[in-house]
Amino acid sequence: APRTVLISGCSSGIGLELAVQLAHDPKKRYQVVATMRDLGKKETLEAAAGEALGQTLTVAQLDVCSDESVAQCLSCIQGEVDVLVNNAGMGLVGPLEGLSLAAMQNVFDTNFFGAVRLVKAVLPGMKRRRQGHIVVISSVMGLQGVIFNDVYAASKFALEGFFESLAIQLLQFNIFISLVEPGPVVTEFEGKLLAQVSTAEFPGTDPDTLHYFRDLYLPASRELFRSVGQSPQDVVQAIVNVISSTRPPLRRQTNVRYSPLIMLKTVDSSGSLYVRTTHRLLFRCPRLLNLGLQCLSCGCLPTRVRPR
Ligand code: NAD
Repeated sequence: APRTVLISGCSSGIGLELAVQLAHDPKKRYQVVATMRDLGKKETLEAAAGEALGQTLTVAQLDVCSDESVAQCLSCIQGEVDVLVNNAGMGLVGPLEGLSLAAMQNVFDTNFFGAVRLVKAVLPGMKRRRQGHIVVISSVMGLQGVIFNDVYAASKFALEGFFESLAIQLLQFNIFISLVEPGPVVTEFEGKLLAQVSTAEFPGTDPDTLHYFRDLYLPASRELFRSVGQSPQDVVQAIVNVISSTRPPLRRQTNVRYSPLIMLKTVDSSGSLYVRTTHRLLFRCPRLLNLGLQCLSCGCLPTRVRPR
């Protein structure tokens, strides 16, 4: 029988692409429940699903921030959820001083507690049946801090700690956890962030910090998306491989261009090498603005990086 796959956040980006690809699986291994907070946005998904709509793909309402919405959605699914994909998420960038606590809590409510809420809802069934797979769209920012992404990175680190802990218990129940960690992906995600930033004034932030954010970080970030950004299709291919695997990995990075940066943390457990290198990339190495991460492979690093 096909496995029932429930995906959150399918009105755009990675969630939409994943729902469509799984629904079009040539071997028809999946029955996809593609969910979104606002069903008013379902047209793009339905158009992309084509003939799969009503066959291997159904669309349902689900707000990961609402207990009622989660309960309502799960009660409509015949049978149980075999694979849960926690994809819904949002970003937040900017100097900490200028961001409200409410905005920060909203990020945690969506990215972290949204996933926790769904897991609590599907776990009893998975445990009873002694099978299941929980996939989480984390980020490379779940593994490393990034300047001006403090709260977003913290929400992804929270996911990493939560699901790594849970994975140990769930091995006993034959339930797998997989954290997928993409670098930049070219979706609406970046546009939404930039729109947020273009109108935000970041009150209470000193001029130096604002200058670093607007004149150094933002151009560097745009360049990073342009130079090493992956397509949602590439990321989805990696997720499909994880879902179809008989022994799913706990972690799966999708962008090899990020391996050098991640390695900096493994190589130096004090953490200084990572912090100093990324500091230097932004504040000292002008090539970053033109070449993005290529700077790491162009030879100017790590030999020129010397802890001060
Ligand atoms: P996206 O903005 O296109 O998709 C995010 C989806 O989550 C949207 O459809 C949005 O409506 C939905 N969502 C937000 N709050 C929700 C809620 N309360 N309930 C239900 N749905 C909600 O961006 P994307 O790039 O496809 O992002 C998908 C996931 O990938 C996110 O978790 C994101 O953090 C992660 N990710 C993205 C990137 C990137 O650069 N785009 C990189 C690494 C990880």
